[in-house]
Amino acid sequence: MSRVKVAVLGATGSVGQRFIQLLENHPYFEVTHLCASENSAGKTYGDVMKKRWKISSDIPAYAKNIVITTPDPEKTKDVALAFSGLDASIAGEVESAYASAGIHIISNSKNHRMDPIVPILSAEVNASHLDVLSSQKTKGKIITNSNCTIMGVTISLKPLYDLFGIESVMLFSMQAISGAGYPGVPTMDILGNVVPHIGGEEEKAEIEPLKCLGKVENGKIVHADFPISAHCNRVPVFDGHTVCVSVKFKKKPSKEEILSAWKNFSGEPQKLGLPQAPNPPILYREEEDRPQPRLDLETGRGMTTVIGRLRPDPIFDWKYVVLSHNTIRGAAGAALLNAELLYKKNFLG
Ligand code: NAP
Repeated sequence: MSRVKVAVLGATGSVGQRFIQLLENHPYFEVTHLCASENSAGKTYGDVMKKRWKISSDIPAYAKNIVITTPDPEKTKDVALAFSGLDASIAGEVESAYASAGIHIISNSKNHRMDPIVPILSAEVNASHLDVLSSQKTKGKIITNSNCTIMGVTISLKPLYDLFGIESVMLFSMQAISGAGYPGVPTMDILGNVVPHIGGEEEKAEIEPLKCLGKVENGKIVHADFPISAHCNRVPVFDGHTVCVSVKFKKKPSKEEILSAWKNFSGEPQKLGLPQAPNPPILYREEEDRPQPRLDLETGRGMTTVIGRLRPDPIFDWKYVVLSHNTIRGAAGAALLNAELLYKKNFLG
């Protein structure tokens, strides 16, 4: 079967590199175009990335000889879909232009996330939000990923929200430096340090889970209705965002009920057997000092959300710790899973 031709926008960045890695030998998709800024355009991906490739496996051979261009839907007319890891300063405008040209966009940027007819798709959590795509007037549709910090948090909340209802949530993040893109946070700011501010992050962490957990009404996404308070911190960890979460429920569950809800959680990706789907989507670790980025990040090829330390909270009802891989589950891997869902559901023609 011929594969669907795709482009990667922002192919040289932290998220872009993950796309290049995860799309190697993909059964549904073939990468034919790589785009980045004018600084990289006109050179082969292999040349540009000689010093910039930050993933432990080699640059895949298929990508090395592709000549990078600046993003332009006219030059990439033969692709059905573009994965976007573009910087937010440019992503909104470029992604809209691709959608207008009939190319579907799977975006990692914040720009379109709060549009009520654009899903923040987390394939196990809210596949039904694809219903709003028919409200988008462009031939190409825009689908976004959530912010990487709340990806694992939202997955952990979904089965609990459905079964027990949620009154309120408080979360404290410890976010990896790769979340700041390349070259990211200066060494002298982060080594041996904690930075208690990441611009715009807390606002995103307080609203995006509500959209993900919301429902579709009259062609638009209506948010779930409970408050979230977020503290976001940058810590000297290379990859992997760890988040401490406290939850107050409408109907307080027992520890066993929460563990069983996580254990039994799965969604459309598992049902459809999508290549990027983690099995299980959630893994609970019983050890008292897990999850840890160094030990648990690669669980399920970086796609499994790892949870631990479920215990009573004297102010809220229960508290726990969530770990997810920010450039895989929180970005390129989740975007690829979303694209696989579109493919299997025949959105790609
Ligand atoms: P990054 O490492 O800074 O990469 C940004 C990419 O955008 C590079 O390929 C860059 O190309 C390209 N770019 C910048 N300006 C451009 C322009 N004017 N025209 C065309 N291309 C341009 O950033 P990142 O961390 O990969 O993040 C990319 C997006 O994903 C951001 O919106 C970010 O918020 C989001 N995100 C990141 C993570 C994460 O963990 N890093 C997770 C989830 C979501 P050059 O190399 O040529 O400059």
